[in-house]
Amino acid sequence: MTIQARLSLVAAALFSLAACGEATQSDTQTSGTANAAERAPIGIVIHGGAGTITRENMTPEREAAFTAALTAALDAGYEILDAGGDSMDAVIAAIQLMEEEPLFNAGRGAVYTYDGGHELDASLMHGGTLDAGAVSGVRTVRSPIALAREVMENSRHVMLSAAGAEQFAVEQGLELVDNSYFNTEHRFEQLQRALELLREQDRTGDHIANADWDSAFDMGTVGAVALDQQGNIVAGTSTGGMTAKRYNRIGDSPIIGAGTWADNASCGVSATGHGEYFIRYNVSAQICSRVKYLGESIEAAGNYVIHEELLPAGGTGGVIIMDAQGNVSMPFNTEGMYRGARTSRLGTVIGIYSEEE
Ligand code: ASP
Repeated sequence: MTIQARLSLVAAALFSLAACGEATQSDTQTSGTANAAERAPIGIVIHGGAGTITRENMTPEREAAFTAALTAALDAGYEILDAGGDSMDAVIAAIQLMEEEPLFNAGRGAVYTYDGGHELDASLMHGGTLDAGAVSGVRTVRSPIALAREVMENSRHVMLSAAGAEQFAVEQGLELVDNSYFNTEHRFEQLQRALELLREQDRTGDHIANADWDSAFDMGTVGAVALDQQGNIVAGTSTGGMTAKRYNRIGDSPIIGAGTWADNASCGVSATGHGEYFIRYNVSAQICSRVKYLGESIEAAGNYVIHEELLPAGGTGGVIIMDAQGNVSMPFNTEGMYRGARTSRLGTVIGIYSEEE
């Protein structure tokens, strides 16, 4: 199927996707198994970063590559759910494919730090048990999301960082790589542009945490939220963080509540965007709290936090959200967000820009 055909299908199934990237429940079924309506709802929603992603900046080849990568990640997760597998495995499978894909700012393809290396962050949360695992500043672990899972399942802790996290990875037998494994040319060029911008900001006295997000710092963090047949929601996020980050900067992605949250009683969320703001506004947990305590739909809660709170404050980015009924919402306040969902009710939807055809 061509991209245009796929996007038309998407637009027909999910007309609300065109409105600032929000996808909501629809009865239209574009794929899925025949008995899907009788089973408990299952589904997975993913993102591959938000930012200045416009049609003008995009080539057909690049668009096709992103669409293919998002589709592969969705399918990998969905097949696990469809076979009766759990949402933890589905989230890990989808995120690991995106970590291996150099297009995204996670795993191979991670952005560069100020010093020219890579420091990776990841987190995971289980909505049934509220167990969580997270790692930050990891330099040699091929799959940071796999390490987050080890922290959750095999340690007494929730969050490990830097050398200690790597020591734990060794003890758990995870695959290690040289830091240069994460190198890519396009991220290196991005670092050079970011360094120039930082030097300019040093001259003018602007502080980067408050500066407008520039395309030099463009994102590509990946995340997934899945709902399995048992009704468990799991959310996960993996990233290289922010281009030219310094001083062991940690963003929102490994912070439970900011970049990742899951609670079967409300929803699961994975975020992408200017992490400093997502931390300060506790974005992922806040969305689910609005659902839980105010009784808002995931669509209303996500829109409120992303458009009414973050945007006026200067925080750019977006989130993917899924609830226990399999509803999906993908609000963002940037020009684009790589995103997609595959659920037993909706079939598959993929979006890139804020205005889908
Ligand atoms: N939220 C990530 C961070 O601030 C970046 C991103 O989503 O692209 O580290």
